[in-house]
Amino acid sequence: MSAPSSPRHQTLLAVAVETPQHAGLGGTLDYLSEQSLSPGTLVRVPLGKRELPGIVWERADGPTTDAQALKPIRQALTALPPLPAAWRQLLGFAAAYYQRNLGELALAVLPPELRKLDATQLDRRLKRLPKTVAGLASTAATAPRAALTKDQSTAVDEIGRVGAGTCLLHGVTGSGKTEVYMEAAARVLDQGRQVLVLVPEINLTPQLEASFAARFTGRRIASQHSGMTPAQRLSHWLAAHLGEADLVLGTRLAVFAPMPRLGLIVVDEEHDPSFKQQEGARYSARDLAVYRGKLEGVTVVLGSATPSLESWHRAQRGQYTLLPMPERIGQGVLPSLKVVDMTNQPRANVGSGDALSQPLVHALRERLARGEQSLLLLNRRGYAPVLQCTACGWKSACPHCSAWRVFHKADRTLRCHHCGLAERVPRACPDCGNLDIHATGRGTERLEEQLTELLPGARIARIDADSTRLKGSLEAQLAAVHDGDVDVLVGTQMIAKGHDFRRMTLVAAVSPDNALYSSDFRAPERLFALLMQAAGRAGRDAAMGARSEMWVQTWNPRHPLFAALARHDYAAFAASQLKDREAAGLPPFAHLALLRAEAKDAAVAQRFLHAAAEAAAALPQSASVMIYPPVPPAVSRVADVERVQMLLESASRTALQHLLAALQPQLHQLRSSHRGLARWAIDVDPLAI
Ligand SMILES: [Zn+2]
Ligand SMILES: [Zn+2]
Repeated sequence: MSAPSSPRHQTLLAVAVETPQHAGLGGTLDYLSEQSLSPGTLVRVPLGKRELPGIVWERADGPTTDAQALKPIRQALTALPPLPAAWRQLLGFAAAYYQRNLGELALAVLPPELRKLDATQLDRRLKRLPKTVAGLASTAATAPRAALTKDQSTAVDEIGRVGAGTCLLHGVTGSGKTEVYMEAAARVLDQGRQVLVLVPEINLTPQLEASFAARFTGRRIASQHSGMTPAQRLSHWLAAHLGEADLVLGTRLAVFAPMPRLGLIVVDEEHDPSFKQQEGARYSARDLAVYRGKLEGVTVVLGSATPSLESWHRAQRGQYTLLPMPERIGQGVLPSLKVVDMTNQPRANVGSGDALSQPLVHALRERLARGEQSLLLLNRRGYAPVLQCTACGWKSACPHCSAWRVFHKADRTLRCHHCGLAERVPRACPDCGNLDIHATGRGTERLEEQLTELLPGARIARIDADSTRLKGSLEAQLAAVHDGDVDVLVGTQMIAKGHDFRRMTLVAAVSPDNALYSSDFRAPERLFALLMQAAGRAGRDAAMGARSEMWVQTWNPRHPLFAALARHDYAAFAASQLKDREAAGLPPFAHLALLRAEAKDAAVAQRFLHAAAEAAAALPQSASVMIYPPVPPAVSRVADVERVQMLLESASRTALQHLLAALQPQLHQLRSSHRGLARWAIDVDPLAI
């Protein structure tokens, strides 16, 4: 290292320190050290009255502040090999791109336990590591290796050929994407390299973990997700970083796992919104995986039956290698689509618009008689989304949020799904004392109740966030469906993902229309993905596949989304959506960032954003960036905090990045002149606007 020396012959070090975003400290801080330490070394440093963990970073050239005023580091944790250069580059990029403080992000992605350790404690942990590593070796019973179909082996060969590039594996549900991931992984592992596999939600994909364990007996598989204990997370992370783990499987935070022998990155269900972190540093693990692949010269495989329009667009333009797998393996057939036009249904049956139509009830009875299973999808948990007084019009508003409280009949509560406030259902209207309070609309609880009446004797189960609160209950309920102990399964989108129910021949979306006219521009894309995914639950069994059906109840039967769904034609749907996006100037044809502000008083947040808009407009970098006026989001008040947001849009990603970087310091200044502002944040590439 060529760092200049201080008068006391100490080395000058740049250290990334965990300082809060709003402290206004960007980049790194300078410290002194008697040892010369390589970048990537973990250290403990004084900051104010506290001692904090930090990471030695490359020091930008240029004079430091008065060396006399600098403090020495407290400790260097040299027992841990330095975090590699590629890792530091990834973090440097992520911090700059997502407009976060480098130290905050770099430390936040380390296991929480690691941040607490001093040198002695770290030594102790490292001594115990061989035991952990031994435990990572898969001892699952070897699964017979399936022979690959032509599509699968073409995909595997292509992945091997791509080198440092990104592949989009577009495989319909049941086409065997997992086999492709595993075969591609096997080739990389055989070269002595490591494989990183990212999944959207680890709790919903134990199957993938089990598949990898069965396929790779003897290989050491480490995990990284928030469901692990702090001690587990640390030991698995250490195994990845020290190159002891062969495979690392995890959720979005695993994209930052340091892996010295990385050879392949797989992002399964790449379209899933949960790859985007929604608080703190709002990064996209999928996008960072693509960047990391480029940085480390390894192949990235993005897999989905319904790719994000961003990824699809890139594949169409040749930036990604498209690997199509249009066939289901075995004799699995995709279900045919039945659209129930709700405008034609008798009024009495239709009720509030999300009831069950006669034809659907009839189809359910047929399944029941044949001993087959059905799945009803309703993306709204609880009994009814709102309670209403028939006399005075009182509604069950949350006193702390701009939202209704949902009626949960099972425990007779009114619950706010935004702030969590739960209260007993009032016996009478709180405003006028009327005893006739009416449940309006329908959630999964009410649908379950209605099915019990309509299908006497049927075994009905409900899976949603309420029914699966207890640890292990989701697995138990899914197992019951698998074992054939359930005739009709009711649930939210939780049940659409990844589960393979062999006797399922009917999947119905009870009330999917909301998404068609949502203000969220990604809502149709998500609905299409959800319905395709749900449809994929049916017809897995060859014998029953021929009569498997996907039902949709809609008031808009001629919507192009349903036409594309009927043909299982993702490409046609994507083409029509991309045309709309281009016309509307939305991603991937434009790049967006949201500046969010929160305060007890909405006016304060508004004033802050107006000042920010003025500051942004005055910057030379604003030339090709559109700055929109601040507006409240759909749910503006949550837990008594008012939220306002301002959209920035540009056809050029670089122009937007330059503006945001120039605006940052001004926002820190503006904050101090806006008393009462709770916080502000920049969301680059927001999921919704
Ligand atoms: Zn009333
Ligand atoms: Zn609330």
